[in-house]
Amino acid sequence: MEITLHPSASPIQPRKIFAIGRNYAKHARELGNQVPGKPVVFMKPLTALWPSDQPIPFPRHGKELHHEAELVVLIGKGGRHITAEAALDHVAGYGIGLDLTLRDVQQELKSGGLPWELAKAFDASAPIGLFTRSVSDPQNLRIRCEVNGVCRQDGNTGDMIFPIPVLISYLSGIFTLEPGDLIFTGTPDGVGPLNSGDVVSVSISEIGETVFTVGS
Ligand code: MG
Repeated sequence: MEITLHPSASPIQPRKIFAIGRNYAKHARELGNQVPGKPVVFMKPLTALWPSDQPIPFPRHGKELHHEAELVVLIGKGGRHITAEAALDHVAGYGIGLDLTLRDVQQELKSGGLPWELAKAFDASAPIGLFTRSVSDPQNLRIRCEVNGVCRQDGNTGDMIFPIPVLISYLSGIFTLEPGDLIFTGTPDGVGPLNSGDVVSVSISEIGETVFTVGS
């Protein structure tokens, strides 16, 4: 699927999907994790992307599907060893995403010291919605997630442990960043389970609101 930025521009083909774990201190603690000393990085394949206009298929290999509402950064200009000072020049836009997580599967993997892909990188584990080309301050955006009209998450991107320029700089020292790369920047506290039929509304100030539905 392509990503359309507002105001309108040519659609952008996504490339790689990075995601950052435990990037909000309260969320790290709610799952019983230490606040990390450097970014916790994992990746999802492109088949994890899912549009907001189709019900999210409920994965069959786990039971506890958690919402993690996240600000998603879209890279417009690639590079390696990008400095934090230059990092925001590499951003094409900002969007709304869900880092869907099978928490029961993740707990099992974590306790075995195993990689997280089965819990985080399955098909449709990265639904995305609205994207905008610019915001006045990406580090001061309210991010909210409602499930069936009840608020579950209400945070601010100002509470990120590693802000966006640091994430871009860190990632680009390890992976070549390319136009179309996406970075899921972590979730504020309040994550919780979803059931088939749930309506998940994620809003981020200056970007808008995207409504996702959970299918069967
Ligand atoms: Mg996450």
